[in-house]
Amino acid sequence: MRELVVVSGKGGTGKTTFVASFAALADNKIMADCDVDAADLHLLLHPEVLREEAFSGRKVAKIVPERCTGCGLCAEACRFQAVEETSEGFRVDHVACEGCGLCKFVCPEGAIELEETEAGRWFVSDTPYGPMVHAKLGVAQENSGKLVTMVRQQARLLAEEKGFDLIITDGPPGIGCPMISAISGADMALVVTEPTLSGAYDMERALDVAGHFGVRAMVVINKADINPQNAESIQRTCSGKGIEVVGEVPFDPEVVEALVGGDIARKGPASKEIERIWERVRETLGS
Ligand code: SF4
Ligand code: SF4
Repeated sequence: MRELVVVSGKGGTGKTTFVASFAALADNKIMADCDVDAADLHLLLHPEVLREEAFSGRKVAKIVPERCTGCGLCAEACRFQAVEETSEGFRVDHVACEGCGLCKFVCPEGAIELEETEAGRWFVSDTPYGPMVHAKLGVAQENSGKLVTMVRQQARLLAEEKGFDLIITDGPPGIGCPMISAISGADMALVVTEPTLSGAYDMERALDVAGHFGVRAMVVINKADINPQNAESIQRTCSGKGIEVVGEVPFDPEVVEALVGGDIARKGPASKEIERIWERVRETLGS
């Protein structure tokens, strides 16, 4: 089984367009949406949810009112100011609480418990292009790296169980913990960039991370025709690093509809280039 992760140094480069298009073009694959902070692959692939599970995140303190005598020791001890005194007694602000457990330790009444919170939910769905594992991080939750790991694990389990050869992953934007969780151990990272100065900078950072984790990388320049000079400069940068630029896709707002909708008549140069890119990626992956 092979795993391709599509990443970008930042959001908004059209990364999900490539994942959705590859989903329509590849055989015997499943999709994993690891962009758990702003998942949007489902908007293109219209999944029907078959299984839904809670994802446990950090622990937070909870005061049991019946045991609390209102001594205030917990509020004094908490360095995150997460314990507040209200007209109804002491309570813990779950957003501010870091789950360190000090309040539980100092409470003379044993009135504080640490509880696991639900940080998000993950799903196994069916789409017109095959199964998809995806997730949604809860509001104000910060465990996106762990949730990404969970999505990848579930995608691998499903692929093994059902005999799929390939996992196509929509990676999180940026180069932080979620992106590292998405690419480490993958067979290939396809870095999607745009011909802008910030796009080139973000691409280099993404390539550095891929290189650091020993993941083979290729680059695709999306909307290459909006600034051919910058596209050429990206080509030179990649050539200097020994990285293959697998294609340059011209700007076309209808590219996703044409590929995902299977609308051959609407296929323009961008759709054809994405098909060519997919063939090259597939060949390189050996899938
Ligand atoms: S330390 Fe315990 S008893 Fe005192 S206010 Fe906090 S929860 Fe209540
Ligand atoms: S667990 Fe730690 S952060 Fe949370 S309320 Fe208690 S002392 Fe504060």
